[in-house]
Amino acid sequence: MTAKTPISEDSSHESFMRAALKEAQKAYDLGESPIGCVIVKDGKIIARGHNLRQTKQDATLHAEMVTISKACRKLSAWHIFDCDLYVTLEPCYMCAGAIIQSHIRHVYFGAFDPKGGAVCSCSHLFDLPHNHHVEATGGILKDECSDLLKKFFRELRDQKKGRPGSAR
Ligand SMILES: [Zn+2]
Repeated sequence: MTAKTPISEDSSHESFMRAALKEAQKAYDLGESPIGCVIVKDGKIIARGHNLRQTKQDATLHAEMVTISKACRKLSAWHIFDCDLYVTLEPCYMCAGAIIQSHIRHVYFGAFDPKGGAVCSCSHLFDLPHNHHVEATGGILKDECSDLLKKFFRELRDQKKGRPGSAR
């Protein structure tokens, strides 16, 4: 289990995580929890997505679900072999399940989610016996990933309190 071992010295992982962060920024701009995702095959990004739960009023539209659907359409397959997934926040139970179902090879995530992470924070879903084993590595650009989330939730709290100067 490598989920707690950051591998930030590897620049290609960082550059893919930066692409996921760009997607997270798109979610932020929509007023969504800023979580973004990309799927990489043969060293190229084949699908990008971000959280659309609020925009589409659909509980299943987490960044990973949106991106996995796009990758499946692109490859015309429900099992997307030899694909790696980069996401800015540790996947939840639903997304970790979809990652197993779609046969993603390796998940790289940024921030850890102590309230709902199914990889290593609240559960170790990938360590259970499944037909397909998923590798996971956490903590890539975790400060940048969690700073964006913290900023979003701070602004949300400020807005609820009706403080002047809040953006949303
Ligand atoms: Zn999720």
